[in-house]
This record gives sequence, C-alpha cells and structure tokens, in this order.
Amino acid sequence: MNRKQKVMLSRIIISFTLLVILNFVPARGYTKTLLFLIPYLVIGYDILRKAILGLFSGSLLDENFLMALATVGAFIIAISSTGDYNEAVAVMLFYQIGELFQSYAVGKSRKNISALMDIRPDYANLEKKGKIEKVDPDTVPVGSIIVVRPGEKIPIDGKIIEGKSSLNLSALTGESIPADVKEGDEVTSGSVNMTGLLRIETEKEFGESTVSKILDLVENASSRKSKSEAFITKFARIYTPAVTVSAILLALIPPIANILILESNPQWMTWIYRALTFLVISCPCALVISIPLSFFAGIGGASKEGILIKGSNFLEALSKVRTIVFDKTGTLTKGVFIVNGIHHSTIENERLLEYAAYAESASSHPIARSIISYYGKDIDEKRIGKIEEFGGNGVIAIVDGHEVACGNSKLMDKISTPYINCHSIGTIVHVAIDRKYAGHILISDVIKPTSKEAIRNLKKVGVEKTVMLTGDREEVASKVASDLGLDEYYSQLLPADKVDKVETLMEKKEGLLAFAGDGVNDAPVLSRSDIGIAMGALGSDAAIEASDVVLMDDDPQKIPKAIKIAKKCMRIVYENIVFAIAVKFICLILGAFGIANMWLAIFADVGVMVIAVINSIRALMVKDL
Ligand code: ADP
Ligand code: MG
Repeated sequence: MNRKQKVMLSRIIISFTLLVILNFVPARGYTKTLLFLIPYLVIGYDILRKAILGLFSGSLLDENFLMALATVGAFIIAISSTGDYNEAVAVMLFYQIGELFQSYAVGKSRKNISALMDIRPDYANLEKKGKIEKVDPDTVPVGSIIVVRPGEKIPIDGKIIEGKSSLNLSALTGESIPADVKEGDEVTSGSVNMTGLLRIETEKEFGESTVSKILDLVENASSRKSKSEAFITKFARIYTPAVTVSAILLALIPPIANILILESNPQWMTWIYRALTFLVISCPCALVISIPLSFFAGIGGASKEGILIKGSNFLEALSKVRTIVFDKTGTLTKGVFIVNGIHHSTIENERLLEYAAYAESASSHPIARSIISYYGKDIDEKRIGKIEEFGGNGVIAIVDGHEVACGNSKLMDKISTPYINCHSIGTIVHVAIDRKYAGHILISDVIKPTSKEAIRNLKKVGVEKTVMLTGDREEVASKVASDLGLDEYYSQLLPADKVDKVETLMEKKEGLLAFAGDGVNDAPVLSRSDIGIAMGALGSDAAIEASDVVLMDDDPQKIPKAIKIAKKCMRIVYENIVFAIAVKFICLILGAFGIANMWLAIFADVGVMVIAVINSIRALMVKDL
C-alpha cells in the first residue's frame, strides 16, 4: 500500500468508528446533525471538493458529483424528516472503500506487469583506457567496449569480443531455456548474463537497441484504445447525464402527479429519496475501471509469454481472427538454409560461391545470410561496387567489375539469361556473371519444429483457414504445405503479389485476417492485413514497425497462444460489461419502485466493482494450450 492508500484506510477506520459511537450518543436536533457531519466530512471531504470543482470546470456529471449529490440529499432528508443520518455517511464510506480497493488492485496489477517488463538496464559498464566506469547506457557511443558481469543485464545490442556465457532471454521471449553464447556472437539488450564475464562491442545506440524498442512499444500500448474501451467512454458520457435527468424526473413527476391527478399527498420525501437511491445505483465506476484493467492485464499476460501486443485494439482484433496467412521463409521454416550442392557451374564451385557471397553481402534475406555464412570467409568490401536488391527475386551486384546476378528464375528472366532448372527439391539460387549463366546453388530450409503443432492448435482456437504465401518454387511450397497440413498455399509470389493475395483473401473472408511474417520482403503485407504479426522480431526493425503484434522469439506456437489470450481477455471484458449492466439495471428498477434503498445500492455498486476488478485480473493468467 502506498501513502495515499494508507491515509484513506485511516480515514475509513476513523469515520466508521465515529459512526458506530454516534449511534449510542443520545443527541437530538442540530447537535445530532453537527455530530454526524464529522464522520461524513472525514470520509467525504475530497469527494465534495472534487464535485464542487467539477461544477466550475463544467465536467459536473461524474461519479464524484453523483456521490456528493446523493449523500448531501440523504443528509437533507435526515434533517427534515427521518433523523437517520447513518445512510448518508455509510454511502460515502462504502464508496470510499470501493475506491480504495480499486486503487490498490489497479496499482498492484500495474506493478506486476511492469515487473514483467523489467528489462530496462540502469547502467552500462563502459571500458575506457583499461578502466571500467558505470555510465548511463544512453551516453554510450556505437563501437564502445562494455563489460557485462554475471547477473547483469546486457544494456545495448552488440557483439561479444571476449568471453562466453549463458544468457537468460526470458524477459524478452518468454523462453526460459538459457542460450549459450561465445566470442563473435551477436547479443540482444534486455537479456541477462548468467554465468561468465562478457566483453561486448556495442553495435547500436541505446535508443536503437532492442530493449528500448520493446519498452517504447509496451509503454505506448495503452494509448491505443479498443472499440470496447471507446464504447465505454462514449457510454459514460451520455449515461451519467441521462441518469441525472431521470433522477430529477423521478423526484418531480410522481409527486406532481399525486397533486394534480390523484389530488393526494405529494410524498415529496419518498420520491426524492428514491431519486437519490437511483443516483447512487447508477454510478458507472465498475465499467469505467474494469475494462481498461482487463485489457491491461491481457497485454501484460501476453508480454510475459514474449508476445508484444501494440494496443488493446489489436488484442480485440486478434480474438476475431478467422484466417491466418503465413509467409514461408523465416516464419514457418527456420530461414537457415543449408547448401546442398552447387550444380552446372561453368567456373570453379569455390569461385561461384565467392561471387554469390559477395553479391549477397548487403542483403538481410535469410538466403543471403545463409550463403554468406556457408562461404565463411571475410568479405572484402573494396571488391564490391553497386548492389541492387529485387524483393522476391534476388540481387544484382558489381563484384570485381563484373555484374553478378544471384536469385531465382524470375531474376534470370529479368536479365534474359537462360538457366538450367534443378530437379531436386529445394530452393535454387541461380548465378549469372555478366549475364552469362554460371550455375546454381541448391539450398534447403527446414520446417520449424513447432510449426505443425501451431497449425493444429490454430484450428483449436477457432481459426478456420490457414494459408501460406511464398516467393519460393512451387515444388518447395507444396511440400511444406502438405507437411504442415495447411489449407491453401500460393507460390512464386513477388512482395506485391502477396499484398494482392491478402487483399483477395480479405474480401471474401468472414472475421479478420492476420498475416504472420518475418519482416523480410513482407512489411507491406504486414501493414495491409487486419493484424500484422511479426516473427522473430529480435533484430528486424522493419517488422517491429510494420506489425501490430510482435513475437519475440521465432516460435509460431505463440500465434495460437496470442489468440487464446485475446479471446480470454475479451470474454472477461464482456462478462464484466454484462454483469455490471445487469446488476445496475435490476437495482435501478428496484430503486425506482422503492424496493431497493440506498444501502443496497451502494453495496451493489461496490460489490460489482470488486468482482469486476478481480475478474479482470484473471486476464493476466495465461494457461498453456
Ligand atoms: P518467402 O516468401 O519464402 O519469404 P521472399 O519473398 O523473401 O520469400 O523471396 C522469394 C524468393 O526470391 C526466394 O525463394 C528466392 O528464390 C528469391 N530471393 C529473394 N531474395 C533473395 C536473395 N537475397 N538472394 C537470392 N534469392 C533471393
Ligand atoms: Mg519472407
């Protein structure tokens, strides 16, 4: 509990004790009024103040106003007729108990969530002239040497230049198995160094490092409101004035009708009391509080699993996904190609591979990375001239003054070079030097171990159609699609064709369409689809920016999991809405007929709120599929 909450708790205790004692004090008339005013003011002075301030600032019809009006009204009724002041004080007391509980629960779950996201490094150990200095990570220039001791967080993305260790990536990916790293490996900020001392050369500034990107993302998530949240805000805006007007009508019409039509006693006090009860009941706090809290908890629960959802609107959208479209390379497959052979080469295999590696040196495509790593030697940048990359085709680069084209058959067609097709299953990288065919490299990728299971689980969480799009050959695409049990696949697509395909699929589907890709050549589709899910975003900036949901590790299993979390969260939101509105509605009717009194009203209000808040927190809990 924080200080403010402790003060509130003491006010509740003092006011409650005074109220109990006053019931045994035989005071009468104005003395009694004044005495009961003490516990009332102890517990309610801030509400009264806010209500009055609200009157002047024009935002009069909020909960403070409702509460102030109802309790002041109850006080006046007590003075003029009943002499029972307990009700006015108790209503304020319960209201404040509810508020206290709410601020405690909200604070607690916010803290839980921020603890999950506790990846912000506080310092970096900068090595300067052999000495180590603790500095703000923001001030470390690219190319500095930092030291990370066991138990410390890696503050900035970089490359290990000395040492080996195990890293705990769980804060980033939800994956608890440690990753072994050694000299030469790239490391991501936000991971925790567990065993050995590491010297790291920084490759980015802190602001550009993974950890900053993730934190930005999480901090901005709550600013994107879902439709249900927007609905509640709009709802509250018409709701409060509507109930105030109804209360006034309830206080006026029956007594006036009594006078004019029935020519009987107007019973002003009875009807004013009912109108005040009506006001207390109508307080919308359960909804106003529990819905944003549910979304917040849902997003928090997901991030604990390494699933970053950029806003509650996307969480809501995820729950409605009926079609999922996958990119192949890097999404369903590992994107780590193995070179199976070099065929039909007109030059030495080693030379062909060298040309290919040089031409690919600037590309971030998985094929390019794989060829370069298979080549294994250092690349001498001076030998390379202009490089041009054609998404979905390949690259054309000047190497040693020769034009080297490296890519699929479409690329060969583009430069009008006849090529030799390969009969083995696998992806082919044709190489042409100065527009003369020089042979091809046969490479193959493997399906991720969890892809098949993920596709099966997607069906379980209500996805009706799974589709794969790829720029790869038909042979490879059909093999992967049948191995995984996908409903449909389309091959040999250029990045622009993928956008067209997704648009066609979006026209004829029911429910929403999500596209999952790795951000290489598919950023346009990621942003075009209803929901873009970026895989393995540790590293790909384009994907983090273009997508709505980011999976921190490469695991496709996280997609059904994200959908499951989203569905659970939405179910909780609807439960809360229905429950709160139903209870309010019943109480309103009972109140209007004089069956419910103010006591019941405040109990109902606080009770609904407590239950709704507890229910919301369930969204944080994520069960396995
Ligand atoms: P996917 O749809 O499988 O993710 P892309 O759209 O990224 O694949 O690429 C489609 C095809 O284009 C690849 O299968 C490959 O044949 C070719 N290609 C793309 N980029 C490159 C590259 N850098 N080097 C060689 N071939 C490439
Ligand atoms: Mg791709």
